[in-house]
Amino acid sequence: MDFSLSEEQKQLKEAVIGFARRDLEDDLSAREKKREFHWHGWRKCAEFGLLGLPAPESYGGLGLDALSCVAALEGLGYGCRDHGLVFALNSHLWTCIKPILGFGSDAQKEKYLPSLIRGERVGGHAMTEPDAGSDAFSMRCRAQKAGDRYILNGTKMFITNAPIADLLLVFAVTDPGKGIGGTSAFIVEKGTPGFSVGQPLELMGLKTCPLGEVILQDCEIPEENRLGREGAGMSIFNAEMEWERGCLFAAHLGAMQRALEETNRYAREREQFGQPIGDNQAISHKIADMAVRVELSRLILYKVAWMKGQGQRAPLESAIAKLFISESYVQSSLEALQIHGAYGYSAEYDLERHVRDSLGGRIYSGTSEIQRNIISSLLGM
Ligand SMILES: Cc1cc2nc3c(=O)[nH]c(=O)nc-3n(C[C@H](O)[C@H](O)[C@H](O)COP(=O)(O)OP(=O)(O)OC[C@H]3O[C@@H](n4cnc5c(N)ncnc54)[C@H](O)[C@@H]3O)c2cc1C
Repeated sequence: MDFSLSEEQKQLKEAVIGFARRDLEDDLSAREKKREFHWHGWRKCAEFGLLGLPAPESYGGLGLDALSCVAALEGLGYGCRDHGLVFALNSHLWTCIKPILGFGSDAQKEKYLPSLIRGERVGGHAMTEPDAGSDAFSMRCRAQKAGDRYILNGTKMFITNAPIADLLLVFAVTDPGKGIGGTSAFIVEKGTPGFSVGQPLELMGLKTCPLGEVILQDCEIPEENRLGREGAGMSIFNAEMEWERGCLFAAHLGAMQRALEETNRYAREREQFGQPIGDNQAISHKIADMAVRVELSRLILYKVAWMKGQGQRAPLESAIAKLFISESYVQSSLEALQIHGAYGYSAEYDLERHVRDSLGGRIYSGTSEIQRNIISSLLGM
């Protein structure tokens, strides 16, 4: 088995790194304080083609295979310090564009994909509710059929991009008698009467990515905005999660690689007791562990991308990848901070940002505990 990147994929990754360093750098700390989204960066990402990585060229995308998408996003995670922008972009890609590509009608694809890919519209998905998190399919949001329309009522919580989104993929119960088979997905556009978004939520990390509550109050959606068939909600959600758990975490891998290189350099330059701190085994072993995490994260991620590229399903592998990479990023960020001492704890450096931003990865796209449940149940337990 060969999971290595082709020359073209390596060049793409390098090109994204160069682009991110050149066009996405700004006064990130100032924007974090104001919790401001990087609109300029968003438009630049669209111009580069990052918002259409997996979409066919006919819709304005780059038409890339899964491993090329992973290579590009790893490059973005490595080159871009604004993890909030990277997270918003991934949500847009994997929980909005990709499901429309996979499950949308030709009319829906033509109507929504080009403007999403050009970055003129921002997308996301709304599954979680105040009382339905890990147990997502216990949702209360209802979509009642009324002729050729659905009336949506309910509240969604912690929705990435909601305050800036032009459309969201909203999951709602269409047939309560059918359990998780009675859930459907709807494309809901901003401006639809009965659709509103609360104030952006204040989070510990990812401060430049707006998250919010979504309220649906007698919100009428035409039948043509249902994505896939009625009752397909679970299939759509599971398919998008497989992609998200693979590709979103490619950016974490890139960020981990950056933290490793910075920490390695620091440990060789910083001297205490007359020698580089890296000469102490207590420090060098931490760096070795960081390198092991990067290497294993890359292997599992490339395997998931390779399987997706072969058209295979990868529920077990994508759960393992999500669990391992998100936990590794937290662990490596903590160690990188520790190795930088007080400088690491200071907001002058990027280390405390890695810690704040990495922690969310253990929660979204299914918590670490839920990934372990998925893995053990797929192993027959
Ligand atoms: C940054 C961020 C972005 C997000 N973006 C979106 C988005 O765009 N769209 C969206 O729909 N949602 C989004 N979410 C919500 C996210 O999907 C949920 O937070 C997640 O599914 C967990 O739900 P919860 O927070 O309600 O925790 P709960 O489900 O209440 O869980 C609380 C704790 O109990 C544990 N637990 C629960 N059930 C079990 C079990 N059966 N076995 C073992 N442990 C269990 C959990 O692992 C967790 O540790 C986002 C969350 C974050 C933090």
